[in-house]
Amino acid sequence: MSVAFTASATGNLGLHVLGTSDPQEHRRRIERGIGLDPGSLLFLEQVHGTDVVLADEAPLIPMNSSAEEERALAPVADAALTKHGRPLAIMTADCLPVIVTSSNPLIYAVAHAGRQGLLHGVLPNAIESLRAAGGTDLQAWIGPSICGRCYEVPPDMAHDAEAKLPGIAVKTRWGSPGLDLPAAAEKQLRSLGVEVHRKVINECTFEQDDLFSHRRAPGQGRIAGLVWRRGHQSASSRTESMTDEGDVLT
Ligand SMILES: [Zn+2]
Ligand SMILES: [Zn+2]
Repeated sequence: MSVAFTASATGNLGLHVLGTSDPQEHRRRIERGIGLDPGSLLFLEQVHGTDVVLADEAPLIPMNSSAEEERALAPVADAALTKHGRPLAIMTADCLPVIVTSSNPLIYAVAHAGRQGLLHGVLPNAIESLRAAGGTDLQAWIGPSICGRCYEVPPDMAHDAEAKLPGIAVKTRWGSPGLDLPAAAEKQLRSLGVEVHRKVINECTFEQDDLFSHRRAPGQGRIAGLVWRRGHQSASSRTESMTDEGDVLT
């Protein structure tokens, strides 16, 4: 199994982000770089919900599709599960990109967990779906997101979040109410019996200029977490070893 997270150098991957970038070309370049068929890496139409879609039923993107056509083919969901090794992507720019693998190399999932998704249970939904599909020995990778020292929220929002996920409320670097999404996700995943990997990719999108951040610079783009079947030698010179089971694209 290969797990990777892109940086802004890979380019904007969100079709909904306005600007001069060509997200379709960036998506196809990633597919070529890691040896996947063009149009096979599944991107979702993300809506900050909690639904988990079965990726194996989603169509491939035909060559020469327009951005509108590609977007219309994307399942509307914030998590996807495959039982047959479909390559998956999950887009973020401050929210958490979460990838969960199992002992079966064909069964894995991705999830987009921002404040809303996290509080409403997108991660337990994804874990439950993986287990229902036969996934065992689950391991999660939490990619770059905004950190608790940078994610400032109104006091009542912090209060409500703390009631749902105790421990999520923190103080920011400015001493104001904040939420630590990655710590809360890690705690929640561990409570569900999932092993969590964070250390190598424990980066803050708000603080690092080479990652897209919706808060720091809205409308610039989306980075992505990627997971695909091992067996394709990566052709990207920008891939460096992250763990014995993962890579990070920088
Ligand atoms: Zn988000
Ligand atoms: Zn930060």
